[in-house]
Amino acid sequence: MESHAIEAARLVDRLGRLIRSGESRRGINPAQWEALRFLARANRFSRTPAALADYLVSTRGTVSQTLIALESKGLVVRQQSSRDRRSVELELTSTGIEMLEEDPLIELARDLGKGSDDRLTSAVEVLRDALRRALQRNDSRPFGVCQSCRYFRKNASGRGKHHCALIDEPLSEKESELICSEQQPA
Ligand code: SF4
Repeated sequence: MESHAIEAARLVDRLGRLIRSGESRRGINPAQWEALRFLARANRFSRTPAALADYLVSTRGTVSQTLIALESKGLVVRQQSSRDRRSVELELTSTGIEMLEEDPLIELARDLGKGSDDRLTSAVEVLRDALRRALQRNDSRPFGVCQSCRYFRKNASGRGKHHCALIDEPLSEKESELICSEQQPA
């Protein structure tokens, strides 16, 4: 079992390196791809430079350089937060959204999808457990999906709108499927 575990760890590491080498060939470096992916998956409370730095386990300074590069490429815009005038919200531009259609991670997903559904489901469960343990060791936030959060109130209005009991804000169905910097597993 232990030899399988170390082999799996090597495979994850090797695949990560191969994907990152492909990323650089598209003129966008690995950190920039990771920021684009985060902004496509994060809810409106989490699309901030600070949350991005936490998600990437990076420094604010490094993330700032990444965002400057993405803005200069027309892939990301900053705007004043609608909830807090002192804060900044990040948004993908339409070009940024289009760029994600060429995400090198999609090639890996296609390769993984060639296995059977059952094996893939098992692999996802094993990787999720490993990620959860690594996050706990690192004292990092989970950034889980909203609808699996202890503060998520499904259909709170009775009219199909959900609610966040932590931030006291309504949540749409689409937002319930996004990741959040404040998420705490139910
Ligand atoms: S319910 Fe949880 S995950 Fe969803 S917005 Fe609120 S804190 Fe974030």
